[in-house]
Amino acid sequence: MTWDSRSTAALPPPPHASASAQAFAAGVTCLAGPARRLEQLAALTVLLLPAAGFGLALQLLLQGRCTALDLALFGLMYTLQMAGITMGFHRLLAHKAFRTSAALEAVLLVCGSMAAQGPLLFWVATHRRHHVYSDGPADPHSPRPRGSGALGSLRGLWHAHVGWMLGSDRARWSFFAADLLRERRLLFFHRSYPLWVLLGLGLPAAVGGLATADWDGAWRGLLFGGLARMFLANQAAWCVGSLCHRFGRRPFETGDCSANNWLVALITFGEGLQNNHHAFPGSFRHGLHWWEPDPAGWLLAAFGALGWVWDLRRPDAAAIERRRRHIANLGPAPGAPRVQAVFRHGRRSSNGRDRLVERRRAQVPEDASAAGREPGGR
Ligand SMILES: [Zn+2]
Ligand SMILES: [Zn+2]
Repeated sequence: MTWDSRSTAALPPPPHASASAQAFAAGVTCLAGPARRLEQLAALTVLLLPAAGFGLALQLLLQGRCTALDLALFGLMYTLQMAGITMGFHRLLAHKAFRTSAALEAVLLVCGSMAAQGPLLFWVATHRRHHVYSDGPADPHSPRPRGSGALGSLRGLWHAHVGWMLGSDRARWSFFAADLLRERRLLFFHRSYPLWVLLGLGLPAAVGGLATADWDGAWRGLLFGGLARMFLANQAAWCVGSLCHRFGRRPFETGDCSANNWLVALITFGEGLQNNHHAFPGSFRHGLHWWEPDPAGWLLAAFGALGWVWDLRRPDAAAIERRRRHIANLGPAPGAPRVQAVFRHGRRSSNGRDRLVERRRAQVPEDASAAGREPGGR
């Protein structure tokens, strides 16, 4: 399914970051003054510095001046970052899809912090806000069109990919992540975030330098295992918020535009299976069938067999079937693209899918810390 021009024309204006952001949704606040400028500077640094490093690494690659060690450092650090974000920040912290020891939790949170996608409270609060308001006006990074025509469509994709980070509206931690604020060990990893970002750059540089015993090896380690890795892994991760809410298959009606995109799923260790995830956010596996690409889910299943993780939550076949039947009972939406239905909140509607969407929009909890923990919820 693609975005339909009729639905584009029917959209309400997007909530551009402004003073009104404070009022448009529960749990959303608006940055101002030095705090806003500091966050914008941090976002620009995370966007531009790794991009410059990627450019230099690409130049070395095209000139045939990179070694097997450089590529190995890139692959290893990419894997550590993606595992840390996917398994640590997302499935463990944001959705509590499994439990593990303090030691493995620490490894996952350090690796996730090395992504430079923000400290863990920021990450989790933003992500839970995404689930609560998914593809609605208060979603922090929906690719909903922002204007008419192809340009408006592209602007929506840009906003969902990276533009949202430069805006001023933010999820309140006390609203979306109150449970994590009570965990002292999590606060330690949150506060020491800059240290882990630097470790993610210094570690491959140190390995490269020590293995080759020269400064050029350290420089190439920094470029390939540090900056180019950060650039490509983050671009892949941000495709989950942009491409996977626009392009792909939708086996479940989730009341939003989430889609299963296999290409993105392969490079994000399973995160690209967004439609499955929005249908069953508390599941440790995003792949509901063995053939759906979900490397993080496969890895967690293996860790479970080894006893490294436990209480792995996933819907059983009956729950999946019930969900399909529930959606089927709502009936078709004759003549109305599903995407259009998502944005009809607040309007009169006459079909089942619209009623489903509106019910969900009305169910924003007082305390959204539990967002997405229910196996069958959003
Ligand atoms: Zn999503
Ligand atoms: Zn999620």
